[in-house]
Amino acid sequence: MFEKILIANRGEIALRILRACKELGIATVAVHSTADADAMHVRLADESVCIGPPQARESYLNIPSLLAACEITGADAVHPGYGFLAENARFAEILADHKVHFIGPKPEHIRIMGDKIEAKKTAQKLGIPVVPGSDGGINSDEEAHRVAAEIGFPVLVKAAAGGGGRGMKVAMTADDLSQALSTARTEAKAAFGDDAVYLEKYLVTPRHIEIQVLGDGKGNAVHLGERDCSLQRRHQKVWEEAPSPALEAAQRQEIGETVAKAMRELKYLGVGTVEFLYENGRFYFIEMNTRIQVEHPVTEEITGIDLINEQIRVAAGLPMTLTQDDVKITGHAIECRINAEHPTTFRPSPGKITHYHVPGGLGIRVDSNAYQGYSIPPHYDSLVGKLIVHGSNREECLRRLRRALDEFVVDGIETTLPLFRTLVRTKDIQDGQYDIHWLEHFLAKGE
Ligand code: ADP
Repeated sequence: MFEKILIANRGEIALRILRACKELGIATVAVHSTADADAMHVRLADESVCIGPPQARESYLNIPSLLAACEITGADAVHPGYGFLAENARFAEILADHKVHFIGPKPEHIRIMGDKIEAKKTAQKLGIPVVPGSDGGINSDEEAHRVAAEIGFPVLVKAAAGGGGRGMKVAMTADDLSQALSTARTEAKAAFGDDAVYLEKYLVTPRHIEIQVLGDGKGNAVHLGERDCSLQRRHQKVWEEAPSPALEAAQRQEIGETVAKAMRELKYLGVGTVEFLYENGRFYFIEMNTRIQVEHPVTEEITGIDLINEQIRVAAGLPMTLTQDDVKITGHAIECRINAEHPTTFRPSPGKITHYHVPGGLGIRVDSNAYQGYSIPPHYDSLVGKLIVHGSNREECLRRLRRALDEFVVDGIETTLPLFRTLVRTKDIQDGQYDIHWLEHFLAKGE
């Protein structure tokens, strides 16, 4: 097992990783920018190193600074969390060159899945169902029109290097296609420095359903069921739950097994998420994330499995603590991502938390780095914390969530708590009747 892990991240995930390390008896190193000197995980870590100014480029994305921090502290492994360098294959390789373990997948798998065209080809080869579309990249307008005519409109132009919902353009008819192509290319070039795009059938009313996987890198892999992340705003997940209100046990079993088999074949190492759109009873692969995800606690709550613990173990070359038969789904879990944003305009609201009180009781979990008197810096994402609620079934979970949201107090800044208090009382949500566009439509109605 590792002796000392450097946590190359900030915010709630840094604290989550620190907690897992403590329980494993592994020493921790926090790194932080000057803006994060008073962060909770910095206070709780065994050692801490300031790695630069607030701008992420000069701190959390600064590989030389992170290497220096490893060297100074003698850390033998780095946990990258999510975002920042978590899906940077080059970072994993550089660490390996310096004899430091990267807690994540093999660099070649990060690389394949980071290129959406390659990822889709690989998924297809491994027997995972994909969205109908172009066979790889699109090189000309004529090719785009030919493929679109084959798959039928509407179609979606997507950037190979895309992420965070950027570089995606819908073409409803053939008339929109050339424009959609050039806009997507320009956006992709500006955001990712790569203007490669591909074409996909645009699914009109799908749900977003993703499968959590865990592999030991030696050909053993399990799936831990799905998460339904259909409630999104601007392609950002807002509310995640498991199991999905739309799936039957047999469908879960089938798609889960398909994905686990693919991961065994790939000899995938660590945790990962295979994301699908789900429409009319069918799954369509969209991408794979080769890291721990924000919404991982939802799966932890219904399986009782500590994903970060497993992730650290397999990165150290130890076996997983479980087999597929050990994965049992119990009850229902929902996560609300509480952001420091105005609840209707979504304008960021950084600043000092003057009063803070978290809900408690059976089935309530709050993963947050916030505390009374903490100032949310303006330089990073606006996540204040995640409220995760578990119940023996969906109804109980919703009742408990409603109660927990009413107990939650965050004063001094605006948060999205009021939005969740409304959602939990809305009929479509209570009925589990929503697709990936539901939230945007709901917000547009201004209810
Ligand atoms: P990113 O890496 O930018 O998050 P994804 O491929 O995961 O890109 O897609 C993000 C979101 O865009 C999905 O969750 C879904 O809401 C929407 N989306 C992606 N592909 C399609 C498609 N073929 N049809 C309809 N919506 C899509």
